[in-house]
Amino acid sequence: MAKRERPQPLYLFQMLPRTNCKLCGCSTCMAFAFGLISRDKRPEDCPPLLEDAYKPTLDQLKELFGGGGVVSESGLLIEEDKCVGCGDCVVVCKKAITTMVYGGMVIQREDKPLVLQVIDGRIQVVNWKSCKRAEDPPDYCRVCEEKCRFGALELVK
Ligand code: SF4
Ligand code: SF4
Ligand code: SF4
Repeated sequence: MAKRERPQPLYLFQMLPRTNCKLCGCSTCMAFAFGLISRDKRPEDCPPLLEDAYKPTLDQLKELFGGGGVVSESGLLIEEDKCVGCGDCVVVCKKAITTMVYGGMVIQREDKPLVLQVIDGRIQVVNWKSCKRAEDPPDYCRVCEEKCRFGALELVK
């Protein structure tokens, strides 16, 4: 198992028919590309991709986005079958939520309930409100995703 391949919106846009026909419910093909990334859309939601000429593209998109998994309230996509329960993401997340960098210095913050926990050998979001992304203003932390060597985590929103 390896780190997750993370296609960029422009790359996906270039794979799409680029007609902005709106049949998918999105106003543009670029919006559909973002919808694929956030998992709000599936490749099959674009009717033109179901035509024979687009079969290779559809297969490629299904490969990229057909892995299943559940997007938690925090926007973290978890693919449980890829998680080996190593706990690395829990450790880095705990450090992330209890420290902040200010003026180049690392400052300790108050303890918070953990966001992530390994339960029965699989990672789970147990308290997403502690996530730095849930702060006001949000901090676009993604160290959990970066730390996972098995591609089980992806921040999609
Ligand atoms: S249905 Fe497909 S081609 Fe039409 S706007 Fe949506 S993504 Fe683009
Ligand atoms: S999500 Fe990744 S880093 Fe976290 S416990 Fe599972 S395998 Fe380890
Ligand atoms: S984004 Fe940061 S704070 Fe949120 S779960 Fe991941 S490591 Fe923790």
